[in-house]
Amino acid sequence: MLAAIDHSHEGMSKELQAYNRLLKQRLSDFMAEARNNEYKLRRFQALELKLVSLNSLRELVEAIILPDASTVSWDEVSLLLFDPEYEVKRILDDEGVAFDNVPELIFATSLKEMHELYNASLFPLLGDYRATKHAKLFSHARKKPASIALLPLVRYGRLIGSLNIGSYDADRFVRGVRTDFLEHFVAVVAICIENGINLERLKRQGLTDTLTSINNRRFFDQRMKEEVESAGRSGKPLSCMLLDVDHFKKVNDTYGHQVGDLVLREVAALIRTQLRGSDVLSRYGGEEFSTLLANTGGEEAVEVAERIRRSIADHIFKTDEFPPFNVTISIGVATMKCAANSKLEPRAGHNLIGQADKVLYDAKAGGRNRVTHAGSFCLTQG
Ligand code: GH3
Ligand code: MG
Ligand code: MG
Repeated sequence: MLAAIDHSHEGMSKELQAYNRLLKQRLSDFMAEARNNEYKLRRFQALELKLVSLNSLRELVEAIILPDASTVSWDEVSLLLFDPEYEVKRILDDEGVAFDNVPELIFATSLKEMHELYNASLFPLLGDYRATKHAKLFSHARKKPASIALLPLVRYGRLIGSLNIGSYDADRFVRGVRTDFLEHFVAVVAICIENGINLERLKRQGLTDTLTSINNRRFFDQRMKEEVESAGRSGKPLSCMLLDVDHFKKVNDTYGHQVGDLVLREVAALIRTQLRGSDVLSRYGGEEFSTLLANTGGEEAVEVAERIRRSIADHIFKTDEFPPFNVTISIGVATMKCAANSKLEPRAGHNLIGQADKVLYDAKAGGRNRVTHAGSFCLTQG
């Protein structure tokens, strides 16, 4: 350094000035990068904060693939989820996701597909977009990306999915580019997605009957409250059925408890096939089932009940051990029909199921294998 500045006063000052300018430029570059990093970090943090605050899987997926512009923005993005048992798809379907409208959301059902993407590594892959390998990830893209970052979603050493980001800039995702923000971000995404799935699993376990896989009484009671309120507001009819297998004790006594269980599973499935997707069906207890049919008047509900009754009476139950046999079911139907904006009695729901129960008893007394209707009621306050 000294050797470079020992010629003249003027030379020395020129060199010092140039050196000074260089230092200033470097400092300013550093500052700009620091500001830029801080800005990037803040935007990632904003999205992360949003993700951890969401409480449905659907909202989570939507926030990841359609982030609001104040957080982060990507030219192209897709979310691949490893879903070998179609469980995640079922959850999102139940939450009302129309998959055709969200082509950014992709599922892989085999581990092979996941491994083809990442080979054995669980690290981000940055580089050129290659149609042969990445077409499936960006089939929806308005314009094919030039460079891409595939970010593995990993939980406990297992690959649960991949967040795929595409840039139209070929130099955006190249080997050696900093990925610490992205890595931190996908770690949060992976935790959120896993939590979301686990929460749904728990909810489902708590509201599902393990023997028949239909909803349980707890779920029914919750929905009854919601449906009664909604029918009270809209003035649309709401019908309720209680269904009880006839002489079920005899099935257990004749064929054993295990065959009894099988009959309950098949009866549940037979009832389900006669209902609309939006109708509520639950195992009310033992060999009793209950349904809620929104926007359904008495006449229509009795028709549905008749169809259910017949489908069960016509069904032949087969087992390995015993000759084929039949069972029958009795059904009590009750309908709530109120004027719009009725002020309902707090026990309106109990009353509805109570009416169905009462006429179910009549169906039993009348010889079983039949449907009885309690008529239409409205229990209002005062
Ligand atoms: P009814 O026509 O009057 O309804 O006669 P029923 O025999 O069906 O009625 P009852 O209430 O006397 O008997 C119901 C039987 O259902 C008794 C109970 O052991 C059996 N049960 C309840 N839950 C289960 C179950 O999960 N599995 C099996 N296998 N049996 C069950
Ligand atoms: Mg019973
Ligand atoms: Mg019974």
